[in-house]
Amino acid sequence: IVRLNNVHKSFGSNHVLKGVSFEVTKGEMIAIIGASGSGKSTALRCINHLEVIDDGAIEVCGMQVGDPAIDIRRLRRDVGIVFQSYNLFPHLSVEENITLALRHVKQLGKQEARTIASEVLAKVGLSEKGQAYPEQLSGGQQQRVAIARSLAMSPKVMLFDEVTSALDPQLTGEVLRVMEDLAAGGMTMLLVTHEMAFAKRVADRIIFMHQGKVWEIGDGTMLDHPQTQELRAFLDNGL
Ligand code: ATP
Ligand code: MG
Repeated sequence: IVRLNNVHKSFGSNHVLKGVSFEVTKGEMIAIIGASGSGKSTALRCINHLEVIDDGAIEVCGMQVGDPAIDIRRLRRDVGIVFQSYNLFPHLSVEENITLALRHVKQLGKQEARTIASEVLAKVGLSEKGQAYPEQLSGGQQQRVAIARSLAMSPKVMLFDEVTSALDPQLTGEVLRVMEDLAAGGMTMLLVTHEMAFAKRVADRIIFMHQGKVWEIGDGTMLDHPQTQELRAFLDNGL
């Protein structure tokens, strides 16, 4: 459903992605790990065409990313992305945050949009918070609203970039649980995370990136038996 083939991306003279290739198949949950600056976020952003690649190819749901013929709105609708910062609109209620794009991008009527909002809020365990405003919610709850907002668009793939990094451990747990439920429900997911235990337990496969390249891809056991010195060093030293 997502395929990167020898993707290169530079920012000026900074060669950030140096021939990255991997695949996410339907229903898979894949975790990307790696040190700061290894190109994890850039890889996600390229998939969504938030960054334009210099070489190689990215295919998402049958669309060739970067091909001028594809509909970028369809790409963004099929690929949901959630960041570390939740970017909710502070002056809108939770429900309005979720229905906004449904009404304006998907052109749904008010009732239909509200029905979807309540469905996705239930999925993230926030059924009772539709009328609350973001400032009245904890960081973990706000992040779950951001996930719900993305889910409301019925994406075929969800990308998550360190969505728990700004949260304290307890709030992290509730957001991870939502992602675990999504994975169990069959959502195709690609997430960048520093939560090694979570990656190991929940991910179907783990991708280790280092200095703009993929060094290892494997299941959770690869963290117990690193094949490369680079992964071993990363696991020993953390970030
Ligand atoms: P972290 O774990 O800190 O989030 P990362 O693996 O996500 O790191 P990236 O954000 O992909 O790393 O950044 C990789 C490199 O690309 C870094 O050297 C960064 O400075 C550079 N970079 C990322 N985005 C831009 C940009 N928009 N303009 C210029 N350089 C950028
Ligand atoms: Mg990053």
